[in-house]
Amino acid sequence: MVELKTPGEIERMLVTGQFVAEVLGELRERARVGVNLLELEAHVREKIRLRGAQSCYWDYSPSFGRGPFRNTVCLSVNDAVLHGLPFDYALRDGDVLTMDLAVGIDGWVADSATTIVVGTAAPEDLRLIRATEDALAAAIAVALPGNRIGDISAAISAVAHDYGYPVNTEFGGHGLGRTMHEDPHIPNAGKPGRGYRLRPGLTIAIEPWFARTTDRVVTDPDGWTLRSADGSRTAHSEHTIAITDDVPKVLTLAR
Ligand code: MG
Ligand code: MG
Repeated sequence: MVELKTPGEIERMLVTGQFVAEVLGELRERARVGVNLLELEAHVREKIRLRGAQSCYWDYSPSFGRGPFRNTVCLSVNDAVLHGLPFDYALRDGDVLTMDLAVGIDGWVADSATTIVVGTAAPEDLRLIRATEDALAAAIAVALPGNRIGDISAAISAVAHDYGYPVNTEFGGHGLGRTMHEDPHIPNAGKPGRGYRLRPGLTIAIEPWFARTTDRVVTDPDGWTLRSADGSRTAHSEHTIAITDDVPKVLTLAR
């Protein structure tokens, strides 16, 4: 069931969204060569504690994971793309790092992800990251009342196609608000004009992610981390947005 939010509820999600943006911004600064993933996890854990926020990941036990998850941020390196379990690893020059963060404050959730290159960036890695960012921007641009979920999905897959990257349709975006995952599901590929009609008050996380040369993922032996099936590098960009009467409001964009 899709729950539409009132303007007041969206304002509360914006408060959470701004905190998520702040923490991800700090992680982008801190993720340098030699920094351990566990240091980044510890930083997020402390930020959440000080803010009195709730981690959406802590104790998360979905059917696909080897639960419960005992971390507050997902950190995915190189061929890892989703649900990356932080582990004892010092970042190396040229690593591609995806940071995905979902928290609640006073019962209202926001979810965002960003990918960076640590140290010296290879052009093909920057291109992959840019593709996910372009796809996210294209998807947000069509998140207008009267359009449909299929328009968002199609905008993402069109950008992937232009760049020449395959698209996985299993893991995509989602509604959110009181919890991290609500209806509707938002596939990263689809047909325009199909699916649930967008309307003011709908709050969704849009999250294009691509691997360079495959649309398939495999689960890591750690039981959580999803990697590209062929070991190719990956990138992921995500924002939480609210559909309004006008252009969408991007709740996790730093203001
Ligand atoms: Mg996320
Ligand atoms: Mg998400």
